[in-house]
Amino acid sequence: MYRRNLLAAALALPALARPALAQAVPLPVVASFSILGDMVRQLGGSRVAVRVLAGPDVDAHTFQPRPADAAAVRDAALVVRNGLGFEPWLDRMLRSAGRKGPVAVASTGIRPRAMADDGHGHGHGHAHGQDPHAWQDLANGRSYARTVAAALAAADPAGAGHYRDRASAYDARLAALDAWVRERIATVPEARRKVVTSHDAFGYFAAAYGVEFLAPQGISTESEPSAAQVGRLVRLLKQQNISALFLENMANPATLQRLAAEAGVTVQGRLYADALSPPDGPAPDYEAMFRHNVGLLVPAMAG
Ligand SMILES: [Zn+2]
Repeated sequence: MYRRNLLAAALALPALARPALAQAVPLPVVASFSILGDMVRQLGGSRVAVRVLAGPDVDAHTFQPRPADAAAVRDAALVVRNGLGFEPWLDRMLRSAGRKGPVAVASTGIRPRAMADDGHGHGHGHAHGQDPHAWQDLANGRSYARTVAAALAAADPAGAGHYRDRASAYDARLAALDAWVRERIATVPEARRKVVTSHDAFGYFAAAYGVEFLAPQGISTESEPSAAQVGRLVRLLKQQNISALFLENMANPATLQRLAAEAGVTVQGRLYADALSPPDGPAPDYEAMFRHNVGLLVPAMAG
């Protein structure tokens, strides 16, 4: 109510008088991809208006911004990005937009993992260096949320208490979710915690939760594997008795379907790695993404 009235007052005033009432309108925030957009919404509530650049089911590694995105990046009170080389296109945007305002790097303070260097690359053009998919460990997600909440409070000091309260409630939910993930995975015998998927986005998940993800050579989102590569993977699936074979939401399904057919294995479903689903899908927010992924992984690994 209070903010609605202020908003009406702000709109009634001449433009020059508006900065003094800056809290009356939602804080314009740009998030580089859908998972961060959700975090900003969870932490900001009605105090923020989030614009997401790489939206649901969009591959943020290779996102191609439009001119309207550049204007949003220039004008936002805060830009939130992942860092760790995830959004190379955003570096160019920030430069060309001449942005002077704050840019929060959500991964600040986490311990980065090295990207697995097995010669095939990530399938997204960053074969070497740091693994950007840190949000796949909920401990890192909690760190992201603290970083984003602090950046929101710095950009909107009058809302500091609001962001602090929401950050504390969100952190409690993520901590409970982390405990649930561990409980569910503990129900699978250790030797069976093996998964094959289409790109190596689960390094942090693997390390945090004790699941082995195989995204073998040639299985990238951009190139078709050779017959020899397919043969090697089919042997691996059979030798290790792996029943958990998954697609990802942004990947071309053809390669994995072909592998599944040759190995006589069924593709068990679609994991969400780098992007959320649309609102009516199975992974519309960060928490739902974990529940969905773990809900598919556990019975598939158990076989
Ligand atoms: Zn990725």
